[in-house]
Amino acid sequence: MNIQTNNNSKNAASSACAACKHQRKRCRPDCALARYFPASNPQQFKDVHRLFRVSNVTKILDSVPSARERDRAMQSIIFEAGARRRDPVHGVVGILRGLFDRVEATQMELESLRRQIAFQKCFRIQRAQMQQTQMGMFTNI
Ligand SMILES: [Zn+2]
Repeated sequence: MNIQTNNNSKNAASSACAACKHQRKRCRPDCALARYFPASNPQQFKDVHRLFRVSNVTKILDSVPSARERDRAMQSIIFEAGARRRDPVHGVVGILRGLFDRVEATQMELESLRRQIAFQKCFRIQRAQMQQTQMGMFTNI
């Protein structure tokens, strides 16, 4: 998952983040949203705003005390919003369903390969037994 964040404070000071631009307000150096919604990626903010609304995202950020957990929460929110834009019907569930289908197809392929290996082993054993039997027949002559 690739989420574009804005860690460049000089850049943040010179231009408002996508969230503040959208709200038409001044982006302050302590803007909680600037880190997650750089001005260079307004689509990311549009996706999140369309699905969650800015006020709800701010409430979520305020409810999470750890900076690391806030980053994770925002990654999840941004990912969900992007998935919903790409697939308005299924969103993240569509991604999960696709992954489950791939896992199921891979398991079926693995099972098929295991059967082929078992067959080859059985074939080799039978061939070796037949060769031993034939050698025994020739030595008894
Ligand atoms: Zn801002």
